[in-house]
Amino acid sequence: MALESTRYNRVINRKLKKCGFCNKELTPKGLDYLYENISADSIEYERCDCKKSREYWIKKDGEEYLKKKNRYYLTILNGLYKEGYIRKNYQNKSFENYNTSQVNKMAVEIIEDYTKECIENSETNGMIITGISGIGKTHLVAAIANKLIENGKIVLIGRLTMLLDKIKETFVDNTKSENELIELYSNIDMIIIDDLGTERISKWALEKLYSIIENRNENRLPIIITTRFDKNGLSRRFREGQDEQLADAVISKLYQMCYGVTLVKEKELV
Ligand SMILES: [Zn+2]
Repeated sequence: MALESTRYNRVINRKLKKCGFCNKELTPKGLDYLYENISADSIEYERCDCKKSREYWIKKDGEEYLKKKNRYYLTILNGLYKEGYIRKNYQNKSFENYNTSQVNKMAVEIIEDYTKECIENSETNGMIITGISGIGKTHLVAAIANKLIENGKIVLIGRLTMLLDKIKETFVDNTKSENELIELYSNIDMIIIDDLGTERISKWALEKLYSIIENRNENRLPIIITTRFDKNGLSRRFREGQDEQLADAVISKLYQMCYGVTLVKEKELV
């Protein structure tokens, strides 16, 4: 019995681990000696300073930072959108249950490829999906959102007013700040603004939209827009906000950083 417990607590002096790249012996951090009953996985070793090890840790630390950042943004999102930031009517939409007409086959393929690139983080350009009401733009962007979420991305999807209402709430509720929300919208993996231009857009809303677009462009993060307006039509809608310069700036930035895809109506058979 006594013997058993001494064996259990036997001290192993400076148990070393070898660097997986150069085989250099590494010492455990903060411990001069170890007990045998400490599991090897729980011990943190010094980092080797060889080139390969340094490269490994830069990558590893980067991934860890991203995970932490995502957890942080997800906590804010869950707090903000208590009713669920992916609305019910978006949830069941997928590429599989989208009824692709022959004329839009190519467009849908482009959108699916684009989604794959977003999943691999290799896409920094945004996308503007244009088409008349009822053509299925919302279904497609909901499918993109769901696909990205399945792959661990943080996505916000909704109309501009829905997104901006959360900012307006910060004026009443001082525990949230406007900057924090703009930062959130500027840094999450994807933001999808559905049906842009349909709702009246004030100068204030346009300013916020500009900040989000500009920041995402700087952060090399994409944005997706659906709209039933073409570039000129959208520009006219924005100019109704009484600041033509700002309206033009938003349009020019948006079209400069986005691919364009148009969904068309199948011609009726004669
Ligand atoms: Zn090494």
